[in-house]
Amino acid sequence: MRFRPAAVARPGTEAELVAALTAAAERGQGVRVIGAGHSFTPLIRTDGLLISLDRLTGVSRVDPATGEVTLWGGTRIRDIAALLAPWGLALPNMGDIDAQSIAGAVSTGTHGTGPAYTGYSGMVTGLRLALPDGRVLDCSATEHPDLFAAARVGLGVLGVIVAVRLRCVPAFTLTCRETTEPIRAVLADFVDRARAADHLEFFWFPGTPRATVKQLTRGPADAPTRPMTRFDRVVNRELLGNVAFGALDAAAASVPRLAPAVRAVASRWMAGAGFSDASHRVYVAPRRVRFHETEYAMPLAAFAEVVPEVERAIVASGQQLTFPLEVRTSAADDTWLGTAAGRETVYVAVHRYHREPFAPLLAAVEPVFAAHAGRPHWGKEHSLTADDLAVRYPRFDDFNRVRHGIDPDGVLLGPYLRELLGV
Ligand SMILES: Cc1cc2nc3c(=O)[nH]c(=O)nc-3n(C[C@H](O)[C@H](O)[C@H](O)COP(=O)(O)OP(=O)(O)OC[C@H]3O[C@@H](n4cnc5c(N)ncnc54)[C@H](O)[C@@H]3O)c2cc1C
Repeated sequence: MRFRPAAVARPGTEAELVAALTAAAERGQGVRVIGAGHSFTPLIRTDGLLISLDRLTGVSRVDPATGEVTLWGGTRIRDIAALLAPWGLALPNMGDIDAQSIAGAVSTGTHGTGPAYTGYSGMVTGLRLALPDGRVLDCSATEHPDLFAAARVGLGVLGVIVAVRLRCVPAFTLTCRETTEPIRAVLADFVDRARAADHLEFFWFPGTPRATVKQLTRGPADAPTRPMTRFDRVVNRELLGNVAFGALDAAAASVPRLAPAVRAVASRWMAGAGFSDASHRVYVAPRRVRFHETEYAMPLAAFAEVVPEVERAIVASGQQLTFPLEVRTSAADDTWLGTAAGRETVYVAVHRYHREPFAPLLAAVEPVFAAHAGRPHWGKEHSLTADDLAVRYPRFDDFNRVRHGIDPDGVLLGPYLRELLGV
């Protein structure tokens, strides 16, 4: 995404952040906050002031008794494991990559997989927010609880997250097992298997007979591990999974009839050798080939209907995919705009190589998601309007009410969010 903000501020202290924010508000200048800029939607676009918290990073407080850790908002997720290591703590769950900032991941409802685990927003027990009027508020379940419920998936419109308090868990290991299985068998018992596993997900090219099922199993921190070999890391992950996969995607983008061959080759590469390691090294994998993505959250109970319907919609659309679907789950959380707010969730993500058009694919799959009360990931492509979102989020109007209360002039609303939220 390319845009030209009028100015960029990189405050190194909370006071500098408040000064930059209030000065912009007094000038009548719009403000957006950027994390790592890894969202597919134009959430951070502004022609006003762009604030980056890249200089506000690291741990500010640890409570060893509760496992609660307060991190400055700009902290990159990839740095958190090393910051928590001295306390023997770890993040309870993680998504596919760790390039995001913690505030950015929280603000869009970023998640991993596992019906017993929430995404990042569900781990948050407190937020420190800088508001355009110069106030700095701490909020939690007991302090400004409405603001807390709203700002845990706040899209950057409920103040700048200065710091995030997260409930962490004792450090643990994960064992990763990837298997190729007939898709019909996977569809038949995925939900039961997901409940029995710690973290289960699958990748699948619609219209093909087999899926790659990835299962992560938690173990104690001192369990013996078998880290990924250098060969697997360099050859399977980097050369096959990224370099060669990118070249095949580029070829299929120019010659679409190659797509079935790319799918066949890629599905063979997807199931890697098993390995085990510290949790943060197992949750994430490098994703270097650029893609478009939409991801919708549906009630977990809809799983058995949604996935076959998505397959039918994609096959009927004639769109040739060279990226697999990714299907994950989540526990419910009690945020207002979390994609898993109030319901156990199945996530279905649809990707396409970045040089190929995404609109026809989006148009094919969105009606399926709509029919199952699907909520789009805030950071991924979708075409919903404020009216659609108000139906899918029971607390949508409450969110807007709280937003208006803390930022009546809409300093933190860019044009995209103004329209998205129907302000
Ligand atoms: C390759 C790739 C893989 C991904 N994998 C996953 C995945 O596994 N699971 C998943 O759920 N998502 C995934 N995503 C989506 C991604 O996690 C989200 O879009 C996330 O928000 C990006 O974090 P960021 O730090 O880049 O935030 P940005 O994209 O920079 O910002 C996102 C939002 O957060 C706000 N924000 C940022 N910092 C602050 C702050 N300090 N205070 C207030 N608001 C703030 C911004 O204003 C904006 O509204 C993936 C994206 C990519 C590109």
